[in-house]
Amino acid sequence: MKEFVASLMENVRAKNPSEPEFHQAVQEVAESLALVLERHPEYRSAKILERIIEPERVILFRVPWKDDQREVQINRGFRIEMNSAIGPYKGGLRFHPSVNLGILKFLAFEQVFKNSLTTLPMGGGKGGSDFDPKGKSDDEVMRFAQSFMTELFRHIGPNTDIPAGDIGVGGREIGFLFGQYKRLANEFVGVLTGKGLNWGGSLIRPEATGYGSVYFAAEMLGTRDETLESKVCLVSGSGNVAQYTTEKLLELGARPVTLSDSSGYIFDESGIDRDKLEFVKELKNVRRGRIGEYADKYPQAVFTPSSDGGAGQANPLWDHKADCAFPSATQNEINEGDARRLVANGIYVVSEGANMPTTLGGVKIFLDAKILYGPGKAANAGGVAVSGLEMAQNSMRYSWTREEVDHRLQIIMKDIHKACLDAAERFDTPGNYVNGANIAGFLKVADAMLDQGVV
Ligand code: NAP
Repeated sequence: MKEFVASLMENVRAKNPSEPEFHQAVQEVAESLALVLERHPEYRSAKILERIIEPERVILFRVPWKDDQREVQINRGFRIEMNSAIGPYKGGLRFHPSVNLGILKFLAFEQVFKNSLTTLPMGGGKGGSDFDPKGKSDDEVMRFAQSFMTELFRHIGPNTDIPAGDIGVGGREIGFLFGQYKRLANEFVGVLTGKGLNWGGSLIRPEATGYGSVYFAAEMLGTRDETLESKVCLVSGSGNVAQYTTEKLLELGARPVTLSDSSGYIFDESGIDRDKLEFVKELKNVRRGRIGEYADKYPQAVFTPSSDGGAGQANPLWDHKADCAFPSATQNEINEGDARRLVANGIYVVSEGANMPTTLGGVKIFLDAKILYGPGKAANAGGVAVSGLEMAQNSMRYSWTREEVDHRLQIIMKDIHKACLDAAERFDTPGNYVNGANIAGFLKVADAMLDQGVV
């Protein structure tokens, strides 16, 4: 099987050059699936894995718009429709200057397994643009979003492909995108999730990824008869996922002590309490300021600016002694050295709110140390799960209460946790959530692909 994975990866690299994040995501999954392919030759002969790594469709388009100085700007738009074996394509849109084909392909690939794990009927997709909303006026964001949707609208639909938010795409952007879709399609339908509450959104959708990641950590701790009460937690990021991770940690009695953005991170040893979190929400969601302002407001906190050493640079946020880590910013924010220091500093729970925040070397450190390590495709699946619940509510033209959605989210996270543990056990790697998530996510998609023939 080692040779199979090596030759598969050789092909992936040759066919998809300059896409290191995609190679990384495929390699992790392929190594886990070697265990399955050995026992199930039918998947190998039908070339299920080879088909899963090839997107069903890639859409790439020009997004022209005019800035406030009336100058023409051109961005690139993408939608990767990765796999629709178990449902319509579903996955977020990312607006960030780093966006390129390889990053969106890795995200779309991960999304296929994640969506399968939620138990809801959703295929995998991802999209976005190299547009940077940071520093843009609301009008500029609107003009960009309208131009982006003017092309995207012909490729999506409530039964075809249902995008949502991701980095740089929050409530404001979803609003502009939905408005333009509705205008072009002349239909009010659930074509996007993460919508505003009074126009088709679901309660708990904004909270879902962060809450879900904390529920997943609580489930992992439960296997050792422990809870999050009094646990010191490192959280990275300060956007949607980081904010609601922090909120749920506070509710469960933990003490979050860090937050970050691309300008640096803050360490507040006394704990980020509810009032401080409200300050962060206002800072990030309304004033769209930088995290350093936290230390101006709360001088006992220390702000450390990021060095611009680029990828591979050690991230000092992970240097603090704590019990749990919730990486909630972006891919590859924990490298091998960071992972080693985290383990040395006593961290024994890592629940990934972000997608693929740990490099392959870092993952190996966590697995070898046998800490409770919840990979993103399982731990952060709460967001897309509640997106699935938003779609269900849209189809019924009915809304569930906050308690009802939160209850369903908790059940889904419990079920994902159990599915990962069961699959890991069944394939002789007990406690390995990476193998568990990859295998459990794969099996459902693979069986659907076998049923549907060579398409
Ligand atoms: P967000 O609200 O835009 O926040 C992203 C945060 O991460 C910001 O604090 C941002 O700082 C920081 N960040 C982004 N890129 C960075 C970089 N290259 N270096 C350092 N910091 C960076 O996005 P989000 O929705 O919270 O998403 C965070 C992560 O969760 C992503 O990996 C996303 O794919 C994943 N995720 C999100 C959802 C969801 O429902 N939103 C669901 C599943 C997974 P700046 O503002 O300075 O850029």
